[in-house]
Amino acid sequence: TDAAEISPKDIDQLARTSFPLCMRHMLEKLRENHHLKHGGRMQFGLFLKGAGLKLEDAVTFWRSEFSQKVGSERFDKEYAYGIRHNYGKEGKRTDYTPYSCQKIISATPGVDDHHGCPYRHFGEENLRAALNNMGVSGNALEGILDKVKNRHYQLACTMTFEATHGVSCDTGINHPNQYFSESQKVLQA
Ligand code: SF4
Repeated sequence: TDAAEISPKDIDQLARTSFPLCMRHMLEKLRENHHLKHGGRMQFGLFLKGAGLKLEDAVTFWRSEFSQKVGSERFDKEYAYGIRHNYGKEGKRTDYTPYSCQKIISATPGVDDHHGCPYRHFGEENLRAALNNMGVSGNALEGILDKVKNRHYQLACTMTFEATHGVSCDTGINHPNQYFSESQKVLQA
């Protein structure tokens, strides 16, 4: 997490260049279904907060999708609270921290859930397709799938970072917001 700010209009572009697969997947599902279940709203919402999305912009962003599904009145009544809660503006006023890879990998997403870590929770076919979508193929792709088979999910994610950014990532990926900020560093260099 860093001091940079992101704006709702930049999210799709940033997802293509700098979001790890777990967050790309949730954005895609949110755009497709105009909805994410609680686990997804937490994992993705806190990631966006960590990436620099301000509270007001977060409400705008989530409302623009959810209102297409449940209407803006119901959004304001049932969902806006949860977003403000994530920013520490409601309830216990805790400032919630974005989830680490370890926490995301150990989640147990149900059938209609889209949170979790794709390296851990996708079947091989879906993972192949998702990585192809990121432009990863050939030896790089096989190497990543090999790490997944050996349950080295963060290593698989690190190799995806390296394949898509053309640099080595010696520290390894251990947090989605670290993936994001390392990516921004590479792209802005
Ligand atoms: Fe997301 Fe971490 Fe899994 Fe990468 S290893 S997809 S950053 S949870």
